[in-house]
Amino acid sequence: MKIAVLPGDGIGPEIVAQAAKVLEALRSDGLKIELEYAHLGGAGYDAAGDPFPAATEKLALAADAVLLGAVGGYQYDTLPRPMRPEQGLLRIRNGLGLFANLRPAMVYPELVNASSLKPELVSGLDIMILRELTGDIYFGQPRGIRTLPNGERQGFDTMLYSESEIRRVAHVGFRIAMKRNKKLCSVDKANVLDTSMFWREIVTEVAKEYPTVALSHMYVDNAAMQLVRAPKQFDVILTGNIFGDILSDEASMLTGSIGMLPSASLDANNKGLYEPCHGSAPDIAGKDIANPLATILSLAMMMRYTFAREDIAQRIETAVRKTLQRGLRTADIAEAGMQKIGTAAMGDAVVKALS
Ligand code: NAD
Repeated sequence: MKIAVLPGDGIGPEIVAQAAKVLEALRSDGLKIELEYAHLGGAGYDAAGDPFPAATEKLALAADAVLLGAVGGYQYDTLPRPMRPEQGLLRIRNGLGLFANLRPAMVYPELVNASSLKPELVSGLDIMILRELTGDIYFGQPRGIRTLPNGERQGFDTMLYSESEIRRVAHVGFRIAMKRNKKLCSVDKANVLDTSMFWREIVTEVAKEYPTVALSHMYVDNAAMQLVRAPKQFDVILTGNIFGDILSDEASMLTGSIGMLPSASLDANNKGLYEPCHGSAPDIAGKDIANPLATILSLAMMMRYTFAREDIAQRIETAVRKTLQRGLRTADIAEAGMQKIGTAAMGDAVVKALS
């Protein structure tokens, strides 16, 4: 397992250090893991004048999987756009051809009160949102701001999806559904958009290859509503880039704890970039209070999706669950009166629970 480790900025190095402890523990159990570190984001700019330095690109291309902390920081906000940390993120995703973005929204029984929804609505929630990541209106051409003959200015973008783009992400969605509860809901806006009508047609075709998966379709406005009305009706949600951007953020908040949410972005061969859903949290960086569990749970996704080691994925997830059951909490997930522990202590507790 060749893993490129990119701690990034803000709390990135602190949370990645905890995930590295988990990897070290797995290595001492006999797993063959190679870790190599490189800079991304503001750290890349500081070290090499580029948010995605050539050395980082080389390492990421050669690795089987990439573990990323987070990028961004106030000190980089005034840089010209190509030098901003977030450009490093966009470039690594594009450079690795990562078109399938997986974001689970899970509610742990111990954290059910963190959600802003009633416990009975979210207790036991386990949704996987699969968002297409490299197409749609975010990348379609032409786009721009133009002046019409009558002198009025107009902004415009182009929504488009080609058949191959829809097919490949649909296959990922059905394969994930096969490993879960065999339900896939494809979300679109086929009542208004031609791109969505085409999306629906292709997803329906791909579904014929997965007869045991129950396929349903839902308009995106209804999906936004259903996610807060009755979120447990969903298993896998498959959707395009812009709808997925919005729905995955909405779904993540059903859990109420941003520090608990992992993510994976995969290419056609299951190579992946794994990172927490949250950002670099510069407001709490260097204070040993950030929650490292989203990063540790991203490792579990890496074991499941890139290395096909469901056993290790479950071992990591069980260790996180046991740690929560022991009542250990970082500040972001602690309820009133609970004892809080720091980032490093949480990492140590998960390592202890692994064995
Ligand atoms: P953020 O996710 O960094 O922080 C939002 C809030 O959540 C903050 O109050 C923060 O303290 C808290 N938080 C986040 N992660 C936490 C954790 N693990 N434990 C405890 N609390 C946590 O979002 P933001 O403040 O909007 O952005 C900060 C920087 O991160 C910006 O530069 C932004 O561009 C960048 N960003 C990066 C990514 C990424 O690397 N994938 C994603 C989002 C934002």
